[in-house]
Amino acid sequence: MSLTLSTTRNVVLRVSKRNVHILRTVKEMQEYRQSLYKSGKSIGFVPTMGALHDGHMSLVQQAARVNDETVVSIFVNPTQFSKGEDLDKYPRQFDADMELLKKVNVNCVFAPNEHEMYQKDALCHVEPTAFSDIYEGKARPDFFRGVATVVCKLFNIVQPTAAYFGQKDISQCILVKKMVSDLNMPVHISVCETLRELDGLAMSSRNVYLTSTERSAAGILYKALDEVKQYCESQLLPGGEAISRADVIRLATAVLQSEKLVTRIEYISFASHRNMRELDTYIRGDKNAAAVISTAVRIGNVRLIDNILIGKAHDDILGIKCT
Ligand code: AMP
Repeated sequence: MSLTLSTTRNVVLRVSKRNVHILRTVKEMQEYRQSLYKSGKSIGFVPTMGALHDGHMSLVQQAARVNDETVVSIFVNPTQFSKGEDLDKYPRQFDADMELLKKVNVNCVFAPNEHEMYQKDALCHVEPTAFSDIYEGKARPDFFRGVATVVCKLFNIVQPTAAYFGQKDISQCILVKKMVSDLNMPVHISVCETLRELDGLAMSSRNVYLTSTERSAAGILYKALDEVKQYCESQLLPGGEAISRADVIRLATAVLQSEKLVTRIEYISFASHRNMRELDTYIRGDKNAAAVISTAVRIGNVRLIDNILIGKAHDDILGIKCT
């Protein structure tokens, strides 16, 4: 049942206290799910690592809009962090997250601990072999296996009708769509557009690591990606010219290098939106032309990623708009 939230804070909290279940164990979550089967309700699921911001909330709102029940998970998944990454300092703010979730129509928050999710003697995981050699896979060797495994486990526990992911992590979206198709998982995957700050910086839980000067410089990622998009999509003439991979990389590099706080360009990828394999060309004017341009850069010590969808990739990936 959907409730209209009142304008007074007290009523919002009273309604939510009655309705948001916080479940900490797999058994509790499975029992909750079982109790819904008879009613035939659709379950929209949003997996997160917490430290929620408006980007996460856009997924939650979309899930709540089109499903009978909405489940959000909050779990900082250790297996997707490699040694030396920011697992220990990753922001954790459960109470603040709950305050945000109470304001929207969420029914259940699944927030297990590591011990609950991973047994010491586990033998099996999901290994997306073809992703170990894409740029993001090389940069983060444990990332895709960790993501595929935890998403698979969460799908088995929550058994959602549909799950919502952000374009912000485009390779993760493509991987999850492929995993669901390859392994015949009965869940529909929706990808929602990246929510951005006014200067174009993609919202991210990791943006809190930026100093104020670094934050001012960080809009350069979107500027670079958007310039490449304009370049690829300009002069949409039938039978238009081929834009080479070298052109794309050269343009994005030049824009990124114009910002002196960019200390390192880890990669600029020009890839297929179907499998993230690198492309050679983009044919301007071809109605089927599609690409994902993505980048990872360091501003100071902070690693930022972003991407933009070019041509047909936009409609193919996003399908419906979430915001
Ligand atoms: P995370 O907590 O970082 O694992 O993110 C949980 C989900 O929120 C993932 O599907 C992300 O892609 C998505 N997400 C993160 N940032 C944004 C954003 N700025 N806009 C839309 N979705 C986002």
